[in-house]
Amino acid sequence: MSATLPAELLSESQRAEMHDLYRHLHAHPELSMQEHRTSALIQAELEKAGIEAFRCGGTGVVGILRNGDGPVVAFRADIDGLPIREDTGLPYASTATGVLDDGTEVPVMHGCGHDIHAATLLTAAKLLAGSLERWAGTIVLIFQPGEETAAGAKAMVEDGLWDRAPRPEVIYGQHVMPGLAGTIQYATGHTMTQADSWKVTLLGRQSHGSQPQDSIDPIVLGAHIITRIQTIVSREIDPRRAAVVTVGTFHGGLKENIIPSSAEFTLNVRTFDDAVREKVLNSLRRIIRAEAEASDAPDPVIEELYTFPKNYNDPEATADVVEALGKALGDGNVIEVEPLMGSEDFGLLGAAIGVPSVFWFFGGHTQETLDADQVPMNHSPFFSPAMEPTLSTGVRAAMAAVLSKAGT
Ligand code: ZN
Ligand code: ZN
Repeated sequence: MSATLPAELLSESQRAEMHDLYRHLHAHPELSMQEHRTSALIQAELEKAGIEAFRCGGTGVVGILRNGDGPVVAFRADIDGLPIREDTGLPYASTATGVLDDGTEVPVMHGCGHDIHAATLLTAAKLLAGSLERWAGTIVLIFQPGEETAAGAKAMVEDGLWDRAPRPEVIYGQHVMPGLAGTIQYATGHTMTQADSWKVTLLGRQSHGSQPQDSIDPIVLGAHIITRIQTIVSREIDPRRAAVVTVGTFHGGLKENIIPSSAEFTLNVRTFDDAVREKVLNSLRRIIRAEAEASDAPDPVIEELYTFPKNYNDPEATADVVEALGKALGDGNVIEVEPLMGSEDFGLLGAAIGVPSVFWFFGGHTQETLDADQVPMNHSPFFSPAMEPTLSTGVRAAMAAVLSKAGT
């Protein structure tokens, strides 16, 4: 079943209400898993629209819109901000601060557009609640905390999301990205990588820098490991398969003439295939241990910091929703792209119950911004998507996707 969307989905006052909501969310971002005011606002807005809502996974909110017999469809928006000092100069720029888990006070910004995701899904929810004659079934609205730390989807699933909400036949999600506002980008099959982050602590033996014979030097050991793990991708993985191994930090020592007792580095792995991921992680463990043994050092301590699941767009569900998006936004505005090496925890929501999911990207920039030398990307302090047509496109896409299943 499908339903044709009117050219103007929102009235002037509905559009103004969405813009107010967006500006409010943008000005008041909260860090991952601390979205207390944000989730209270979302729950209140859902309940005001007559939609049953409950908390899940701490600061997550689930809205359930029931409208008789019909398909169950879920749509997810993430709601967390980032520890970034906003430098957009927007009149509604954030001056908020937050406290990280380690106690550090940091500026907070909606630097990844999750304010847009929340505002568009809330607006779509209100439109659906106000047009019960146009569809039938149940819509599960998932407002997920903590995407940026890979904690939120996991927290919601572990808090019984799928025991408390009806099982959907498909789960949709969307993310604003640099790209022309009004357009959608999607991939079929592999869409975003799985990511694994580790902290590795190298143990040595401290000595005076002039007496290396008394030391086990963890810095020399670290240098060997970091160089050698670059051969995993170049020498051990089939070149037709994608993998990335990046060492992002390396710390050790306090003074040039002391060989320290330990050093540490953090690394990040990106893969699409489960088999490739296993291979890379096993090779990392093997090289880290073997190099320590070659240095006569104790086994290094490997700590898994976090894991992002993969995002796989079910081909059949993708083809269905792409057709609906093309009708809603114009076929030329829905563009197939290569998978992204970035990661997202969205995929976990469907994988947890074996339900297919589809995740796409919508542009947030004007042509003028895209033509500039430096396009402000997600996570930049200058990230400032054009409010329109970005927000209206997000609502239109969400409505088209949901109604492609539940429309009458
Ligand atoms: Zn982000
Ligand atoms: Zn994001």
